[in-house]
Amino acid sequence: MCRHLAYLGPARTLHDLLIAPEHGLYRQSWAPRRQRHGTVNADGFGVGWYAPGDPVPARYRRDRPIWGDPNLLDLARVVRSGAVLAAVRSGTEGMGFAEAAAAPFASDTWLFSHNGAVPGWPGSLHRLAAALPPEYLVGLEAPTDSALLWAYARFRLASGVPLPVALAETAAAVDVQGARLNLLATDGTTIAATVRGDTLSWRRASPAGVLVASEPTDDEPGWHHVPDNSLLVATSDAVTIEELAVEVA
Ligand code: GLN
Repeated sequence: MCRHLAYLGPARTLHDLLIAPEHGLYRQSWAPRRQRHGTVNADGFGVGWYAPGDPVPARYRRDRPIWGDPNLLDLARVVRSGAVLAAVRSGTEGMGFAEAAAAPFASDTWLFSHNGAVPGWPGSLHRLAAALPPEYLVGLEAPTDSALLWAYARFRLASGVPLPVALAETAAAVDVQGARLNLLATDGTTIAATVRGDTLSWRRASPAGVLVASEPTDDEPGWHHVPDNSLLVATSDAVTIEELAVEVA
């Protein structure tokens, strides 16, 4: 299982958001505290962020452990953003190791990450894949369950549904026993996240904004644990949590 994180609020450096916190995403790559599956997240990482006046995010991804990339430290010192989504990857067996398999996946104004695994992949996702127009399958970024789930979410977004609905529908379209589906996405102004099978927490950021993360990035008070089978929707000043439907609507 990977770990992921999203932030909306006043512009902060990537260093401040990812590296400086005592148990931040950087440290979670080798010492996660709440991870339920896997031990280290060393199979790549990625950061996506939005710059003022441009709705399309930038991405920096690598196929190596986050601690083994000195370039990130340099970038993180100077890049600041008010909307960030980042992930460290522990690749699921059989799903390959490549930069293209590291979240965040991106399309248009969106960033997406999946923390989890679908047992029996790829055969078990046959029904979901069959619902997709061929261009979504041909354009798959990586041979992973996460890339296929993102293709399905993009397909739903293209039909005009809001981001949280697209994630909920994607989770509901996976009719596979034991599937772990912690999905996380943003368009730079809203964060949507599903919780099914692994941990998720959120807190108000200081001095303002919101942080949504697989696990708390420090031991300060103010973190809220999100229950399993939830859909979280956050803007920089409001968070709602509702039950995640199991069936496709
Ligand atoms: N199954 C996905 C992959 O292999 C996500 C892995 C994870 O959450 N550890 O990339």
